[in-house]
Amino acid sequence: MPYDYVVLGAGIVGLATAYHLKRLNPKASVLLLDKGHGPGAGDTGKSAAAFRAFFTSRINMSLAKTSIEFYRSIQEKGFDLGMRFVGYLFLLDKRLKRSARKGLEEAKRLGLDYEVLDPGTLEDRLGIRTRVEDLEEAELIGTGDVEEGILVREAGIIAAEKLVEYYYTSITSMGVEVSFNTLVTGFKIEPRRPLGVEGEPFPWQDSRVSGVETSRGTIHTRKKVIAALGAWSSKVLNPIGVDSYTRPKKRQVFSVRAEGPLAKTLHAEGLNEYNLSPMLVFPRKAFARPEPGEGSFWVGISDHLGRPFTLDEDPAPEEQFYTLGILPILSLYHPGFEGAVPHSSWAGNYDISFDGAPIIYEPYESDLVVSAGTSGSGIMKADAIGRITASLALGLDEAELYGGETVRVERLGLERRMIEPEELVI
Ligand SMILES: Cc1cc2nc3c(=O)[nH]c(=O)nc-3n(C[C@H](O)[C@H](O)[C@H](O)COP(=O)(O)OP(=O)(O)OC[C@H]3O[C@@H](n4cnc5c(N)ncnc54)[C@H](O)[C@@H]3O)c2cc1C
Repeated sequence: MPYDYVVLGAGIVGLATAYHLKRLNPKASVLLLDKGHGPGAGDTGKSAAAFRAFFTSRINMSLAKTSIEFYRSIQEKGFDLGMRFVGYLFLLDKRLKRSARKGLEEAKRLGLDYEVLDPGTLEDRLGIRTRVEDLEEAELIGTGDVEEGILVREAGIIAAEKLVEYYYTSITSMGVEVSFNTLVTGFKIEPRRPLGVEGEPFPWQDSRVSGVETSRGTIHTRKKVIAALGAWSSKVLNPIGVDSYTRPKKRQVFSVRAEGPLAKTLHAEGLNEYNLSPMLVFPRKAFARPEPGEGSFWVGISDHLGRPFTLDEDPAPEEQFYTLGILPILSLYHPGFEGAVPHSSWAGNYDISFDGAPIIYEPYESDLVVSAGTSGSGIMKADAIGRITASLALGLDEAELYGGETVRVERLGLERRMIEPEELVI
């Protein structure tokens, strides 16, 4: 039996897409499938699960802001997503202060508010070492004294598994069918008007992707196949001459117990209603994300030059990446991190697009919709990405985001792409 729509990938993007497809078109038959054993088992389960409505490109800002508002509304209705608006705190040295100015002005113009914290407050409340210029390590790393902190309040932490659970229970109760342990091995391409001649489809024929080949057999679609395959997009799509224009790159997170002076930082008073540390973003973009449930900080950093674009199916965290890549910065700006040994760690892949915004398009009018390129911020933008992907699959020119803002779907496509520069990628 063919389905109207088959969504490939039950990560946060596939889940949100299936949800909005069914919400916008309740009569449609929708199948969501994944090679994993359950929802969110890909990179969604590897996320640091922090969020911020704070970007410099309008589109990223809209995607994040409206998704965060949607998640907030779910939580206010009683489904606890573990959302805590602890804020993001960017610690700026002289150089960063200069380079961040443009981004901050732009963010302000887009209606985003932030507070400036002085070095004294950063030291008292969070135990940040703001004066580092006399230290050899600062010279070595090439960073300077923290001159100010930028505290963004429309930001915080969320439990990604809870968000997955929300979408998953919603779609199953709405009648979306789900098939796990189902590996996509290929696509079925057929002419729209078959002639019954051996070798079809020919290049001059109008063809479409009419289904997927899987480890459980062929699944046919009447309307669209939607590929929400995250870091696996190119690997699965390239064999049929389709690209996601995104590439996978490994990212790692290490969990460090907040003991001694770090305990005081984790439970910092007076910066938000939870008396918790904000997500700390140090110079060079090393981050420490509070995880109050575990009594720890999740720490990480994005490495760019030298880190290959490769798809590692099961990437492992690297001890040396922590000790030599992350720890020197953290312990320079917070003595509590000195010698800290992580008690757990994990790694996944970012699915990186060329401009830091998602890519959502239908190549060759093929009835195959590609939704990829979350570029490290897919949890915080998933609801809006799901709405835009579902709208494109339904043949709509515009998608309505949560709260009523509309976006032309072609803005995230390739031919009429309109993306402003993003200055705040972490
Ligand atoms: C270390 C790390 C930290 C991050 N931190 C944050 C953060 O703080 N905030 C934030 O917003 N984002 C963060 N992200 C990014 C976020 O996790 C991703 O943007 C998001 O999870 C992408 O969702 P997705 O649905 O596109 O991909 P995925 O969740 O990876 O889903 C794709 C699915 O496709 C399935 N699949 C692949 N190939 C096949 C096949 N052949 N057949 C069937 N199924 C297949 C996979 O099993 C997978 O479940 C982080 C990512 C990493 C790796």
